[in-house]
Amino acid sequence: MHRLYENEYIVIFWNSAKCYHAKKCVTGSPATFNPNNKPWINMNRAENAEIWQTVEKCPSGALTCVARHNIDVVFEPENCRSVALDGDKKIGECDFADTEDGWNIYHTDVSPEYGGKSIAKRLVYKVLEAAEKQRIAIDATCSYAVKVMNE
Ligand code: SF4
Repeated sequence: MHRLYENEYIVIFWNSAKCYHAKKCVTGSPATFNPNNKPWINMNRAENAEIWQTVEKCPSGALTCVARHNIDVVFEPENCRSVALDGDKKIGECDFADTEDGWNIYHTDVSPEYGGKSIAKRLVYKVLEAAEKQRIAIDATCSYAVKVMNE
């Protein structure tokens, strides 16, 4: 399961398949990580430094985080894509084909001047999250998306 959580400054990637329940997150920032809550991650109950440091201690790599850089990533089901926005300006997208067999991500792209900010990963996660929540099979021919799915 792939999920994105974010507040104004930080984005967390959560890949449940990698978690081996060491609970470093729960003890490191109990207000943020609580498996008894839904969603189990709340980004607005602790200082960002505490959240960031806790994520960095996740031993499995199930949790990772990046700065949000004021870039919004939104899902557009009507256009079969997620898009990254710097204000009103579209600076990246992740496109998928809606087929009989499920969704297939075939293209991910971010403007070069916005490189190095993990925006492409956020775009792919946004599509993975949407597919998984709707129980739609998801695959990729986009090599970058394949890499993210196999991380
Ligand atoms: S710290 Fe990482 S491995 Fe441990 S429970 Fe939390 S997410 Fe899972």
